[in-house]
Amino acid sequence: MKESETSVTEKAKSRRVNVRTPDVMERVQAEVAEHYRSEVVDKLRARHEGLTIGNTTVRLTKQFGFCYGVERAIDLAYATRNVFADHDIYLIGEIIHNQEVNRQLADMGVCPLPGDSAVDEIEKLGPDDVVIVPAFGADTPTMDKIKERGCHVIDTTCGDVMSVWKRVRKYAREGRTSVIHGKSTHEETRATASRAEGKDGKGQYLVVLTLEECDYVCEYIRKGGGDKSAFLERFSGSYSTDFDPNLHLRRIGVANQTTMLKSETEEMQRRLASAIQDRDQDLDEIEKDNFQVFDTICGATQERQDALFDMLENHLDILLVVGGYNSSNTAHLVEIGEKELPTFFIREAGCLRSLEEVLHFDLHQREEVTTYSKVLLGNDPVVVGITAGASCPNNLIEDTILKIFKLRGIEGDEVRGKG
Ligand code: SF4
Repeated sequence: MKESETSVTEKAKSRRVNVRTPDVMERVQAEVAEHYRSEVVDKLRARHEGLTIGNTTVRLTKQFGFCYGVERAIDLAYATRNVFADHDIYLIGEIIHNQEVNRQLADMGVCPLPGDSAVDEIEKLGPDDVVIVPAFGADTPTMDKIKERGCHVIDTTCGDVMSVWKRVRKYAREGRTSVIHGKSTHEETRATASRAEGKDGKGQYLVVLTLEECDYVCEYIRKGGGDKSAFLERFSGSYSTDFDPNLHLRRIGVANQTTMLKSETEEMQRRLASAIQDRDQDLDEIEKDNFQVFDTICGATQERQDALFDMLENHLDILLVVGGYNSSNTAHLVEIGEKELPTFFIREAGCLRSLEEVLHFDLHQREEVTTYSKVLLGNDPVVVGITAGASCPNNLIEDTILKIFKLRGIEGDEVRGKG
């Protein structure tokens, strides 16, 4: 981002680059494996009964950790570093929600755009700069700005995220408001919401996060309107610029952030469908086309949630969920676990301070807290379940496994020797 490189003409266009050539990918895969692979995890993955040493058993879910979208995004980021060895490389935000991966990339000189506003920073980019779009994608104003600057663009947006964009664009063309189950501040949902505005910018959207919020919307739909200012205040920051709940909840299409809790998304779909049905019961069939739904939970999120439900069918004393605290799919794994047993959301093995002390993220207080638990103490047999979100590398899972055994008096060599 040198001064001389910032004089880009209005006509300049970003240049999408294919960095995935076979020779580059060979080098990249070796580097990625060196940074994130774990033999201990590979062995444990193959042992459905878990690994028992002495009185300690560790079980892993059948599906955990890096999903295909994250693997691809990381490969592309490493490949970009290989191909553009002498260029400045910037990320829009984080490539994925994992501190360890973002730190590794920063060590390689791949850093988020500096400053508070990505848009201001994009203004300073020039044709020699390289920008990586993260796996969650980026909103259309940001992409348009990058295009104007004429820099090289490596787009790692996951195909599953793009299929949500396709759906909400269709809703916009059909004159439907997209009701998006997601978190309005999450990068992916912001990117999806911008697509819901359609090509002409006239499309509408509303982002709904909780079932409680969904019930409020349903009530409004059933009554055919209500207190517009109260509605807009309640959903402040979660709707399109011209959104009017009295006009734009007539015809809706439901979509969701790809990483939501499947059961909650399905419940939301049911409640919204039923509210529209109640309101429209006197309309004839053609006029009733006011509701559409498309399940956009991605396969990887669903598999990780299903695998956790499977593991919970057998006895566990404690569950550790490893991943970045801002990772949506990881947080939902924690929600599933904490309904059943003591569950701790940890970002790395170091969070297991001792057999009693666990530093973890509390989803309800929205902060990292310390909890003292007696589950791992004593000589009684203990079964520890582990799972990890789609952005968690295997080396962090290995560290966690080794730390549990170490705290229980079993050294890493013995763990590595098993299997
Ligand atoms: S969690 Fe799903 S949508 Fe997100 S990157 Fe992975 S596969 Fe793609």
